Amino acid sequence: MKLTKLLKSVREIASIPRDNPDLLIAQYRAFTFQMPLMYVVLMINTWGLATTHMHVAPHWLTVDIPVIMTVISVVRLIGWLRRSRQEASHEIALEALSRTQRLAPFIALAFTLWAFGLFPYGDPYEKAHVAFYMAITVIGVIFCMMHLRPAAFTVAFIVNGSFVIFFALSGTLVFVAIAVNTALVSAAMLAILLVHYRDFTGMVSARAENFRLANIDSLTGLANRRAFFSYLDFAYARAKSDGTPLAVGIIDLDGFKLVNDIYGHATGDKLLQIIGTRLVEACPENYYVARLGGDEFSIVASNFGDTVELVANGELICSAIRAAASLGDITLQIGGSIGFSVFPDMASDTTQLFANADYALYHGKRSSRGKVTLFSTDHDAKIRYEAKIEQALQHANLEDELTVVFQPIVDVSNRSTIGFEALARWGSPTLGAITPAQFIPVAERTGMIERITKTLLKKALAHALLWPSTIRLSFNLSAHDLSSPDTVLDIITQIGKSGFDPARLDLEITETAFIRDFAQVRRATETLRALGCGISLDDFGTGFSSLTHLHALPLTKIKVDRSFVTDLNTNPTSYKIVKSLLALSRDMNLDCIIEGIETRDELAILKTLGGLMVQGYLYSRPIQASEVVNFLEQPLMVA
Ligand code: C2E
Ligand code: CA
Ligand code: CA
Repeated sequence: MKLTKLLKSVREIASIPRDNPDLLIAQYRAFTFQMPLMYVVLMINTWGLATTHMHVAPHWLTVDIPVIMTVISVVRLIGWLRRSRQEASHEIALEALSRTQRLAPFIALAFTLWAFGLFPYGDPYEKAHVAFYMAITVIGVIFCMMHLRPAAFTVAFIVNGSFVIFFALSGTLVFVAIAVNTALVSAAMLAILLVHYRDFTGMVSARAENFRLANIDSLTGLANRRAFFSYLDFAYARAKSDGTPLAVGIIDLDGFKLVNDIYGHATGDKLLQIIGTRLVEACPENYYVARLGGDEFSIVASNFGDTVELVANGELICSAIRAAASLGDITLQIGGSIGFSVFPDMASDTTQLFANADYALYHGKRSSRGKVTLFSTDHDAKIRYEAKIEQALQHANLEDELTVVFQPIVDVSNRSTIGFEALARWGSPTLGAITPAQFIPVAERTGMIERITKTLLKKALAHALLWPSTIRLSFNLSAHDLSSPDTVLDIITQIGKSGFDPARLDLEITETAFIRDFAQVRRATETLRALGCGISLDDFGTGFSSLTHLHALPLTKIKVDRSFVTDLNTNPTSYKIVKSLLALSRDMNLDCIIEGIETRDELAILKTLGGLMVQGYLYSRPIQASEVVNFLEQPLMVA
């Protein structure tokens, strides 16, 4: 038993740690510095000994052999110096260390035999020099090789073993004593080497573990944000040099924040773990998956076939995310959208790859949730235009350039106008008229929305103050306007200053407002509701709101999105949706406004469904503030 243990540890000492790449690379790095040092010491000492023997020993021993050994040493030295400038990989390290291990006994033997060869020629001083040369040089060599245990041990055994035997048998007391000294020192040195090596391996594995921990996402076990970006750099460099395509995909879960809000963080965490596993399973081998943080994941696809294949794989990933997940007694189902961008087609560096994938995701989420969006030339043009809008907006005189127009909201049952929705208009001196759908998102992104809302609200309230007291005002708030108690306070102050009765004001919010922080939106809307304002949920039906969710907000109205009305006549699904939304609003005691009525046919169908309040081009396009009073005095055009 003990013998097998001993054999095992001998075998361990005598072998290179092939299956431990971190250790191999660390050993190799140490070697690239220490081996050149070793050869320099070896050569200088060797020429020192050769010089002291030149007058007594033959030429071939003092010149020819040292020259040969020097040539070999220089070749090895240059080899190591070159390696020190290269990136170390597992394969390179293994090859270099194996070669060193194979060569070590031959080189050790050659130097030992050469030194013994000189011994008989010198006087006692020179003989002592031979002994000193061997004893001291081997210590240097062992130190330089201590990171490669098998080589250090081999050298120690060959040089010191023959040294001790040779001098112990020399019959001279001084040499016998030197032999004993050297044997003892060698034993001590080997013992220290073993301890040092153990510490070294411990340090390397601790460093490897730290590296692993710093690069892993502890919740899902996937690579984390830091690992993602360093992998992206690596994959990009490889793709560039190989001339292969590279894609970055960013995945965002739709409605994950709601899961967190409604079911708690523990459930949210479990869902993220499940989705992390599904992503890895759904991705082919050449796809690298990471979690960027929150509910955002990302992919690097190296050397994929073409974009058709990429999008097809993206769709598989989306459907993997969409599958229902059971967590204890609840079953959850959420979607995920992916934005891809591809090098070299649509991005030329890693920053652009990531930014474009993010842009594609953002735009994809707006038009087609739960789907794959590939960054295109169209997006590129949009980005350039948005940059222009951003520039112009930053230099805009908001007070002069922003105006509001008003679109009537009509009660169909008694054919009366019950209020107007304020809609923003921007006339830029450089770009001309820009629609709110274009500039509001830019203002949100650049943090200018609060100032814009303030200007628009002030103008809208000032106009509405002149209207008859039965007429209401609807005003659109952006998600950012509700994102903090301060911004809400600003709105309240603005309303107070205007002198307009808050009870006549409806604030419209969209579902994008509560994707981020539902609790904050609830607090904000409750505050505004307490002030007397109505709260309308805009673009209803396009988002993901659950009923529990609607119940949790102090809503007074819902506005059914125009997209359902557009194909009301032709699409039975739209018909059913509008019907059930109307029923839902009735059940929840909420007013319901149907948006975007353009034709009499649409209106007729709506009437059969019981839709009472509508807004749309059929009654009126948005009109100038100055036209409102006149509009109210005229009878409505549509019977
Ligand atoms: P929204 O709040 O859904 O506003 C309704 C949009 O539908 C308006 O477009 C309106 O002109 C248009 N619309 C009304 N009836 C019809 C119709 O029958 N057919 C068609 N095709 N369109 C109709 P607009 O003014 O371009 O505004 C677009 C969006 O920009 C708004 O959608 C709203 O989300 C945002 N927005 C507008 N004004 C403001 C504002 O003051 N603040 C904020 N935060 N967002 C605003
Ligand atoms: Ca609106
Ligand atoms: Ca709307």
